[in-house]
Amino acid sequence: MSVVVLGAGVVGIQTAFALARRGIEVTVIERGPAPANLCSKGNAGIISIGHAEAWAGPGALGTMIRAAAGRDPGVKVSRWTDPALIRWGMEFLRNCSAEAHRANSDRLARLCRFSRARLPVVAEEAGLSDLVRHAGGFYLHTDRTEFETFRDSHASAHLQPVSAAEIVAKDPSLSRMTDHFAGGFYAPEDSVGDCHLFTNELGAHLGRLNHVSLRYDTEVEGIERQDGAVTGIRAAGEVIAADHVILATGIETPDLTRALGFAPNIYPVKGYSGSWRIKDAEAAPRLPFIDEAARLAVGVYSGILRITALAEFARRNRDMPEKRLDILRRYAERHFADVVDLDDVTFWTGLRPTTPASAPYLGRVRAYPNLWINAGHGSLGWTASAGCGELLAQAISGEALEVQDVSAQARWLDPL
Ligand SMILES: Cc1cc2nc3c(=O)[nH]c(=O)nc-3n(C[C@H](O)[C@H](O)[C@H](O)COP(=O)(O)OP(=O)(O)OC[C@H]3O[C@@H](n4cnc5c(N)ncnc54)[C@H](O)[C@@H]3O)c2cc1C
Repeated sequence: MSVVVLGAGVVGIQTAFALARRGIEVTVIERGPAPANLCSKGNAGIISIGHAEAWAGPGALGTMIRAAAGRDPGVKVSRWTDPALIRWGMEFLRNCSAEAHRANSDRLARLCRFSRARLPVVAEEAGLSDLVRHAGGFYLHTDRTEFETFRDSHASAHLQPVSAAEIVAKDPSLSRMTDHFAGGFYAPEDSVGDCHLFTNELGAHLGRLNHVSLRYDTEVEGIERQDGAVTGIRAAGEVIAADHVILATGIETPDLTRALGFAPNIYPVKGYSGSWRIKDAEAAPRLPFIDEAARLAVGVYSGILRITALAEFARRNRDMPEKRLDILRRYAERHFADVVDLDDVTFWTGLRPTTPASAPYLGRVRAYPNLWINAGHGSLGWTASAGCGELLAQAISGEALEVQDVSAQARWLDPL
């Protein structure tokens, strides 16, 4: 059996790995010169089981109203009139009922936990276990009332309430921030690692296998079909034949499928990161954390401290305005001036491929029995990638699925 995977972000590379370990002949086609060059490059690196919850829900309406007034610290909307955003927003609103929120969050949580369990297996098989630290992570609250309300609705074995003293006991470096936090949650299953490095190393591992072909610097121009089935893809003026084709092309997936008569509802939700070189490793946070009030995430790996921020609805704009980067700079200056070299920083922006229901589109395209999709992982692509790749490989190989009903739903999709 031969499979072509389109896109070498973390999702495409994890999918290729899951297929290759079954002995399936795989070709990966990627426009960029290497894996993980777009959204998988500068993300926070958190395997974030504690945030495996759908964005759309009863509380999201308040967030959108605050964002419209420019008063939300984490969500910005700069292109209200974008037709793609209007289409996305209508479906988002339909997912805001308590019932839809529960169903979508349940899908996402089961998918992310399955993926978290798969990741060490992938890392072990590829010799990359050193690149991911499995020691848990924090979700920290500044406002006591907000913390207590959240505790009443969310506390569980996966998200354990912790006092400021308990936070410091688990990670003494956070004693610098105790006046900033009223309390928080410890997510024991959370992990952290450099997604860009991991994806590149996994790509290099695949490159050493005889039955895997990696084609970088190659733009996919279209999908070939005949008699209701896909026959291959067109790239660089050549047709590459395949028994199955998988779309792992993130925000650009609709560009490739429109000619086939459907367009996955994936919106690019922009975020930013700053990566500072660490000068005092002893003082750096040991565990990743999310500052829920500031809506910022912090992770430490590969000799850097990375801070990420914002969910901005701005079409495919990749500018990095100073006022956005200042949010990251101020946080680094306020909390980590003694940990990092403030002058040695790399800023980055990425577009999260986000569905209205938050879960990715994962499954078989109804009109074409050998065309599959693994796209739309939003803010949890690193978290969900190992599990999504494995489930798709199980489906293509005709194996029983280890978990089911984890995909976003769509008329054109037979979801896993
Ligand atoms: C600020 C920020 C912080 C984040 N933090 C986290 C986090 O802590 N944890 C987490 O789990 N997730 C996080 N995410 C989300 C995560 O980064 C994404 O969900 C994930 O990277 C999506 O991976 P992907 O492979 O689907 O997309 P991408 O990485 O964008 O890969 C898609 C690939 O397809 C290729 N492609 C597209 N069209 C074509 C074509 N026509 N021909 C050839 N190639 C093509 C592109 O070049 C690209 O390389 C964060 C995102 C942002 C922006």
